Amino acid sequence: MIPVKGYAAPQAKIPLGPFKFERREVGPHDVQIEIQYCGVCHSDIHQVRDEWGGSIFPMVPGHEIVGKITKVGDHVTKFKVGGLAGVGCFVDSCRTCPSCLAGLEQYCDVGMIGTYNGRDKEGHPTYGGYSNQIVVDENYVLHVSDKLPLAGVAPLLCAGITTWSPLQEWKVGKGHKLGVVGLGGLGHMAVKLGASLGAEVTVLSTSATKKVDAEKLGAHHFVVTSDPEQVKAVQGTFDFIINTISAQHEYNFYLQLLKLDGTMILVGVPPEAPQVSAFNLIMKRRRLAGSLIGGIKETQEMLDYCAEHGITSDVEVINIDYINEAYERMIKGDVRYRL
Ligand code: NAP
Ligand code: ZN
Ligand code: ZN
Repeated sequence: MIPVKGYAAPQAKIPLGPFKFERREVGPHDVQIEIQYCGVCHSDIHQVRDEWGGSIFPMVPGHEIVGKITKVGDHVTKFKVGGLAGVGCFVDSCRTCPSCLAGLEQYCDVGMIGTYNGRDKEGHPTYGGYSNQIVVDENYVLHVSDKLPLAGVAPLLCAGITTWSPLQEWKVGKGHKLGVVGLGGLGHMAVKLGASLGAEVTVLSTSATKKVDAEKLGAHHFVVTSDPEQVKAVQGTFDFIINTISAQHEYNFYLQLLKLDGTMILVGVPPEAPQVSAFNLIMKRRRLAGSLIGGIKETQEMLDYCAEHGITSDVEVINIDYINEAYERMIKGDVRYRL
């Protein structure tokens, strides 16, 4: 077994602290990665606080992992020792269901095996990237370019792919007006990727102070949602809205901003069930949709696109012993834009 130093939440709503554990030896198809950076996703907070239910403790969060390959199994063909690699939100799936065969492992019929807060095929809990080593089957590992600053690449493994996948699925690009709701980790990637794909991007934010940043990130317009005049001006105008809000909010408020046949895609996962007025959908044949991270193939395509176009996340690098304060800042929306 491989000894690992990590950071874990012992129970829901208890601060994280140092935690030693072991990972499996490198098997014939495995890659061992020395973790250099791991992004902090709002899903980490939802899960360590058991806001979605069913959390497994102790929990070592973290699913935006990048690092250096230190060992590979005898049958590994895609990765070499010394190279860079990434691991996202899942580390295995059934591999045989229609979703897995289609490269949509995130929608596996049996259930993907989460990088943390999951159970592997032997029933052991999985531990994530708030740690110094990880061992993952090569089929669930991504190639990472050495051309981009590595810290800024880590958040692409969740925030990047989660916003890229709906942009691809709905073919968002030139000629589309795209609203991005919530300028946090996911939101700032939606702005960068949406603008890069040619969409006209408007950020809809509760934080007036993020206007300057929104424009630097590539947004064409900024609406502060507390200003009724600014909101009225965008009523019925968007082809697509990507909604990244992590807390309870009024879905109807944003649905009204869609034009005829417009689609709001939920990627944010507030713990509370939303209320949706049928009128807001039927009057303009609007659609309400959702999207979950992305498959391995699409994640690799996104990483390659970002390497080619010089796209990374705007990050503030912290030490793991700052994680409890980091969570408090994220809840306040006080992060620019990924820790
Ligand atoms: P984050 O960095 O904390 O950003 C969330 C943003 O939402 C905040 O910066 C804030 O933006 C806005 N916001 C927060 N509370 C709000 C409220 N009560 N009303 C209106 N706006 C509010 O979080 P994240 O890491 O981007 O994650 C966002 C959500 O996506 C989380 O629920 C997370 O679990 C989920 N997620 C889903 C997937 C998926 O596969 N679908 C993947 C990853 C994460 P402003 O200051 O601009 O208003
Ligand atoms: Zn995430
Ligand atoms: Zn499957």
